[in-house]
Amino acid sequence: MNSNIKPIGVENLAICKSCGGKCCKTYPGPATPEDFGAPDIEKLRTNLIEALSTGMWTIDWINQDEGLYFVRPAVKGFEGSVFDHNYLGECTFLTPHGCELEFEKRPESCRMLVPKVDERCDPQGYTRQTVARRWKEYYDILMDAAIEVEEN
Ligand code: SF4
Ligand code: SF4
Repeated sequence: MNSNIKPIGVENLAICKSCGGKCCKTYPGPATPEDFGAPDIEKLRTNLIEALSTGMWTIDWINQDEGLYFVRPAVKGFEGSVFDHNYLGECTFLTPHGCELEFEKRPESCRMLVPKVDERCDPQGYTRQTVARRWKEYYDILMDAAIEVEEN
């Protein structure tokens, strides 16, 4: 994949404003390796360490035995954990005025979610499972970054 191509979806502020951010109140959107600089390994490592060090991003998983982990924003009240497995919870970046991150800085699954009325929003296939599979080839870097942050 070309490292300069980052999929950007379409915001629909009118629909999301009237909804009030139900998706963000349910669970933070999973981020992809490309959100942190993949396939550039050094960039990925540096960005992961920086993000995890803030305590606002965490590593979650689908299946530890299969090495299926992924990165997402922390759940409110659980900031500061390098690993977290809350299944539900409000995203730490949600404010009363919407997401505090600029659109391009949000997780890929947040950017690609297509807002629709009556909460029939289209996640376009971005599930924890599909995102965790994309992280699998970067498992070693993810764990290295986690160890580095936990040790400091
Ligand atoms: S994407 Fe859908 S669920 Fe999320 S805030 Fe917008 S309308 Fe609500
Ligand atoms: S990063 Fe922003 S858009 Fe994504 S779940 Fe959190 S508050 Fe919502």
